[in-house]
Amino acid sequence: MSHGATVMVAGAGAAGLFGAIACAEASPGATIHIFEAGREALAKVRISGGGRCNVTHACFDPAVLVGHYPRGDRALRGPFSRFQPRDTVQWFEQRGVALKTEADGRMFPTTDDSGTIVDCLLGEARRLGIKIYTGCAIAQVRPTANGFDLTTRAGDEWHCQKLLLATGSSPGGYRLALSLGHDLVPPVPSLFTFNIPDPALRELAGVSVETVQLSLALEDGPALTQSGPLLVTHWGMSGPAVLKLSAYGAVGLHKQRYRATLRVNWLPALKPDQVRQKLLSLKPDQGKRQVAAFSPFPALSRRLWQYLVQHRVSLRTDLNWADLSKAQLQGLVTELTRGEYAVAGKGVFKDEFVTCGGIPLPEVNFKTLESRCRPGLYLAGELLNIDGVTGGFNFQSAWTTGWLAGHAIADSLIG
Ligand SMILES: Cc1cc2nc3c(=O)[nH]c(=O)nc-3n(C[C@H](O)[C@H](O)[C@H](O)COP(=O)(O)OP(=O)(O)OC[C@H]3O[C@@H](n4cnc5c(N)ncnc54)[C@H](O)[C@@H]3O)c2cc1C
Repeated sequence: MSHGATVMVAGAGAAGLFGAIACAEASPGATIHIFEAGREALAKVRISGGGRCNVTHACFDPAVLVGHYPRGDRALRGPFSRFQPRDTVQWFEQRGVALKTEADGRMFPTTDDSGTIVDCLLGEARRLGIKIYTGCAIAQVRPTANGFDLTTRAGDEWHCQKLLLATGSSPGGYRLALSLGHDLVPPVPSLFTFNIPDPALRELAGVSVETVQLSLALEDGPALTQSGPLLVTHWGMSGPAVLKLSAYGAVGLHKQRYRATLRVNWLPALKPDQVRQKLLSLKPDQGKRQVAAFSPFPALSRRLWQYLVQHRVSLRTDLNWADLSKAQLQGLVTELTRGEYAVAGKGVFKDEFVTCGGIPLPEVNFKTLESRCRPGLYLAGELLNIDGVTGGFNFQSAWTTGWLAGHAIADSLIG
């Protein structure tokens, strides 16, 4: 049997729901259906941000905002001038959902419950008469003279005038886009932690440092550098600085099978010479005390200091400051300012991850999110070769591209 609808959306994720809602509001007469392969809509929103949903980031200047996207920064400049985090905050507020900002700029619902966001979006879809079919994957799309014929995996046939593909990072979604003339930048993971096979380091799991500077040497291109908090885990290193580095190094690290040399500057606020002077000053001041006994740098905990001194520089436990040789002092300075760690794999950051790669951005008109390969086809969300660093930026690009696509579809129906 064949069914019809004006607009169809493949994928009931953040981008698909936001696009459908925007379209329904701007074009009240349109019939809009969403097809979702999974058993429930907004599954990722529900598990996002550790169950709290980091909806967006308190960064309200589009020029600054784009700096948080390793892929998509230039393309998003225009879209963010039309729908940015301030609009996201307002959008949810107008629908009864208040967001709050944490110290690092991440924004969450005040309920600290992603269910609030899910309920809000599904409530809006219901109110606007949008139909959502779950457990219903789109398996095939064929362009026709006035739109698209779609076949679901169960074999149902549908027809629509406009199609929004918002299938995230699913291989099936990429296949649909390829079948409609698009290309694909090979998808690889982004936002991951670094596995560092050092049992002594792993014993420090839970230790964090507020600001480190990391530098990652890759075979292709210059070293990548990032600063920020670092957290030692049972597998190696995590925290915002590592996650940012994983995003910018996603493609290079994938090529190198996640093997690389990571340089850590544990004291980026000090120049190496200032570190040396500080250590030298301890020789007369603390001469009789053991080097390993206390951390002279408030930023480094005692446990971390002992690890650096004993495991990394291999100083004897009973060595006094007075007896520290020139070479040992130099070893300590080097370790503190550019210690080298062998990354030997990637781990999962459970609170957020995303795929880098997807539909090449030149194939999309970023004023409308319409495909340049196939008129009437629109693309939004993670399906595109756009990804942000951790902190709410990934949802923001999904809201923005979904919103723009929904409005553009509504405009095209009126036009
Ligand atoms: C564990 C986790 C936590 C995260 N936390 C955060 C966070 O707190 N903040 C943040 O900014 N980002 C977060 N992200 C990233 C964010 O979830 C994604 O960037 C965002 O969901 C992308 O939205 P989307 O609509 O493009 O894709 P998705 O949310 O992936 O939605 C796409 C939908 O399309 C469906 N689909 C696929 N193929 C088909 C088909 N052929 N037919 C029909 N349906 C199909 C899929 O089942 C899916 O439901 C997190 C990601 C993960 C994995």
